[in-house]
Amino acid sequence: MTGEVTGVIGAQWGDEGKGGHTARLAEEHDVIMRYNGGSNAGHTFDYLGEEVNTHQVPSGVLFPDKLNISGNGVLLNPVALFVDELPKLRAGGIRINEDNYRVSDIAAMVMPHHVILDNAREAGSNSQGTTGRGISYSAADKYGRENFRTEQITENPAQLMRDARTAISMVEAIGIDTANVVKAISKKDGDETYRGISSVDEMLEQWWESAQLLIPYLDNTIGLIRSHLKRGDRLLAEGAQGIGLDMELGTQPLGSSSHCGVGGMINGLGINHEDIKRVFGIAKLPMTRVGGNGYRFPGLIEDSEIAEALRGKRGEIDGEFGKSSGRERDECYPQVPPLVTAVESGGVTDFIITKMDKAEKFGPTMKVAVGYMLDGVRIDSLPPSAAKFERCSPIYEELPTWRTEDIVNIRSFDELPVQALGFIGLIEEKTGKPVSAIGVGPFRDQVIVR
Ligand code: GDP
Repeated sequence: MTGEVTGVIGAQWGDEGKGGHTARLAEEHDVIMRYNGGSNAGHTFDYLGEEVNTHQVPSGVLFPDKLNISGNGVLLNPVALFVDELPKLRAGGIRINEDNYRVSDIAAMVMPHHVILDNAREAGSNSQGTTGRGISYSAADKYGRENFRTEQITENPAQLMRDARTAISMVEAIGIDTANVVKAISKKDGDETYRGISSVDEMLEQWWESAQLLIPYLDNTIGLIRSHLKRGDRLLAEGAQGIGLDMELGTQPLGSSSHCGVGGMINGLGINHEDIKRVFGIAKLPMTRVGGNGYRFPGLIEDSEIAEALRGKRGEIDGEFGKSSGRERDECYPQVPPLVTAVESGGVTDFIITKMDKAEKFGPTMKVAVGYMLDGVRIDSLPPSAAKFERCSPIYEELPTWRTEDIVNIRSFDELPVQALGFIGLIEEKTGKPVSAIGVGPFRDQVIVR
């Protein structure tokens, strides 16, 4: 008996509504695994009527009998985990402990100097529009083979502490005023990680304390995953961000520091491609993105009334504001080419389209980009370059929309208005993959599965 892995990936720029669908799929799986990203990513879903956010922890925590794993591909921040995420989940009534949550013992850690470097860069003229959580610098050290892996906490703690201090000295040696940056970090809106600390030493202490708390959770997760596959279990691999933000396949350099598609799943969990049976690509009807760095995406909605209607209000559960950053997301017309990339390079076998309830915000019809013209040549997938993506002009088809009230209360594809079926048919025709579920509202039961 062999088990199998189902994947869930973002088919656009993250924020597609993966969290809710992963939680729904988690219910049917035994083991739920995160394979990329870090505390910068966030999933939102409702738990017993309350809004719950996960960042480094898989959505399987909603179900106390599931095993949850943060795999080796996660850039792990112990402080964000023990000071922010776990206390909040526990306060929300979620049981999470060493029995139902395991963390890879070879994951690269996000260290204090990574957070300092990120915040120093964000405050300067070469800001990348990151969430300031140190992710990109942690990834840089990982690929630079610096030794900040989780296993060092127990294998060689004295060396790890020395390396953490040396790294801070190196940051100071390049002229960064660490005391000042730490002050800003301690007061940062929407980020509890190092709230209230007053010095670099306190920051190091906080990290060290959290690193100690991580010890009972550490495991050889690659071996653990294999043993569950051998037992015939069903495993769910939950991706953070989306294919447009993939380090290799996304619009470089506007990506995240991780691999968002099946490639990331295989490496970030240590599994075999033959273990993966199905990969759901989550795509949102209005395409959104956040953190543009001065690049302008094709298909950006110019009509501010439509954009605002789609975005909703700050504080609404489905409002288009970053869950980790609070930043307002840009609203774009629906676009097929990113979905083609999600199939061709991201490994998607089925699509789930969320926010089908928002179509009427476009008015009686909506434009859907089915390809782009780039420097006089038609392309049907995403160019893996922000500079080239900015030069793309969408080739639109105009489709009729449908009324929200006509879909929010139905639960079967057969009852969908013909206009909604037309949009679904277009996605299927252009990507060659089925749409196997749609979202019609922010709550977990507002899903229509085919
Ligand atoms: P993720 O990072 O991909 O999980 O996405 P976010 O957490 O940024 O956004 C998910 C938000 O969208 C949640 O608040 C969901 O409740 C909401 N959402 C998901 N699917 C739908 C949908 O079909 N319709 C509406 N209106 N909201 C949805």
